[in-house]
Amino acid sequence: MNPRTTGVATEPGYTIVENASLEGRNTFRVPARAEILIDVRKPEALAEVLAIPYVRNNPLLILGGGSNMLFTRDWPGVVLSIAARGVRILEDRGDAALVRVEAGEPWNELVSWSLGHNFIGLENLVLIPGSVGAAPIQNIGAYGREVREFIATVEAWDRSNGAIVRLDNASCQFSYRDSRFKHEPDRYVITAVDFLLPRTGELRTDYAGVGAELAAMNVEANARTVAEAVARLRTRKLPNPAVIGNAGSFFKNPVVPVATAEAIKREFAALPFWQAGETTAKLSAAWLVESCGLKGFRQGDAGVSSQHALVLVNHGHATGAQIWALAEHVRNTVANRFDVELEPEPSVI
Ligand SMILES: Cc1cc2nc3c(=O)[nH]c(=O)nc-3n(C[C@H](O)[C@H](O)[C@H](O)COP(=O)(O)OP(=O)(O)OC[C@H]3O[C@@H](n4cnc5c(N)ncnc54)[C@H](O)[C@@H]3O)c2cc1C
Repeated sequence: MNPRTTGVATEPGYTIVENASLEGRNTFRVPARAEILIDVRKPEALAEVLAIPYVRNNPLLILGGGSNMLFTRDWPGVVLSIAARGVRILEDRGDAALVRVEAGEPWNELVSWSLGHNFIGLENLVLIPGSVGAAPIQNIGAYGREVREFIATVEAWDRSNGAIVRLDNASCQFSYRDSRFKHEPDRYVITAVDFLLPRTGELRTDYAGVGAELAAMNVEANARTVAEAVARLRTRKLPNPAVIGNAGSFFKNPVVPVATAEAIKREFAALPFWQAGETTAKLSAAWLVESCGLKGFRQGDAGVSSQHALVLVNHGHATGAQIWALAEHVRNTVANRFDVELEPEPSVI
């Protein structure tokens, strides 16, 4: 394997590309290269791939759909993508079913599948880009739901002992845009997720305009109409990465002590915040950025979206380093004005 030249090798369960471009594999569409890019199409090939000496001895990065990644440099080693797909019901309990989904399945395809099979719950998470394997990493969430509510077990290759492990929901240590996988980034390669999907239950329509959208659509609330309402809201509010490079929200909503939120609110009366836990509050990061006058701000081709203040965009030829410089500028500006630290949501490489 010579990473200096470009070459492609196709094995029965995987494909290796040397000196591979990652520009088409991240939704910011910034240029970056991997010394080696490996797409694993068959789950059983993973152990063989991880045993290749070059793979064992070089830095390893797992890449899904690249919709939550910012490449500020080339990757000096192996980029591994789990491309195996598949959805199947393991156990049907009537009011709910245990469903196994391979890591390479696109998240939104799973949402469509669940709606088609009359399950309830994933409708608020419609149109989130990326793969099922990445969904547990930051515990994806939107419009009042988080994926952790539906995860029974995460199956992963544990690189610390070279074996497949099955982590139950509690072991995944999920919290707001967080999980144990974020804290042990070099340990687990997620291969599949088992979801417990209900057929009955409460719909969430009380969040961020979903109820109003359903009323405007003049329809009864059910899982399909809620999905449609969320899809309409998202399409209006979020820039489409197929049109302008971005990774969705670039910053998490900061979680601060309630006393801090109240102190900021005394000075800035319009600040929106929500109670999040007994003693903590979640601030609107979008409001903080917008209040600094940064919505639509641009440094060359790196910009803050004029559609949504939390989304950083690539207007054309920005590099990842330029987008990261803009992110630092936004963080510093918000910190100087409100004394609040914004934390990036994507993995910054
Ligand atoms: C327009 C847009 C809207 C978005 N909206 C939302 C939203 O509403 N809510 C939300 O939560 N997110 C949102 N996101 C972020 C993104 O869609 C999610 O974080 C998604 O889960 C990322 O999936 P991915 O396959 O693209 O992961 P990648 O970006 O490829 O990877 C993300 C992280 O997961 C790791 N990873 C990926 N696959 C695996 C695996 N199999 N095993 C171990 N580690 C892995 C990577 O190493 C990396 O650290 C949005 C992004 C965009 C572009």
